[in-house]
Amino acid sequence: MHVASDGQPPDPAKLGRSSWYFLHAVAEGYPLRPSESDRATMTTFLSSFAKVYPCSYCAADFREHLADHPPGVQDRYHLVRWMCEAHNAVNLKLDKPLADCEALAAKWKVAAAAAAAAASAKP
Ligand SMILES: Cc1cc2nc3c(=O)[nH]c(=O)nc-3n(C[C@H](O)[C@H](O)[C@H](O)COP(=O)(O)OP(=O)(O)OC[C@H]3O[C@@H](n4cnc5c(N)ncnc54)[C@H](O)[C@@H]3O)c2cc1C
Repeated sequence: MHVASDGQPPDPAKLGRSSWYFLHAVAEGYPLRPSESDRATMTTFLSSFAKVYPCSYCAADFREHLADHPPGVQDRYHLVRWMCEAHNAVNLKLDKPLADCEALAAKWKVAAAAAAAAASAKP
């Protein structure tokens, strides 16, 4: 994929749209019942992402958001919700409409609780 040939930084809006698509997809693919290793990998990924994101002021704000709102790595429901809220924090700053994060994540709440119950019922 061709990004920029003139040494200019990427367009923040174009970069943002693709990045949110990726980040929401990552959250939707996170395990319903993550292992300790899954949680550590996701925490490291998000903090690395916030260091390498190629829009310096966006990255700085995302790092601040991460510090103030530790990511919900306990299961998919919490991560989907956290990602939606992180996106809403940027929407708020840019005066864009906010998503209903509880509604967006609700389907995973039941599934994550069922996965936890099934695991604890195992002999
Ligand atoms: C980590 C990060 C930080 C950023 N920081 C800045 C910044 O500081 N300044 C700046 O100018 N731009 C920033 N951006 C880019 C900005 O968020 C937008 O991506 C960009 O302005 C393009 O906006 P858009 O209206 O096309 O929709 P986007 O905000 O890119 O959203 C794409 C689509 O996602 C859906 N959506 C919207 N909100 C949510 C939500 N809460 N949860 C789930 N889905 C949702 C909607 O269908 C929307 O059309 C950042 C992007 C990222 C990934």
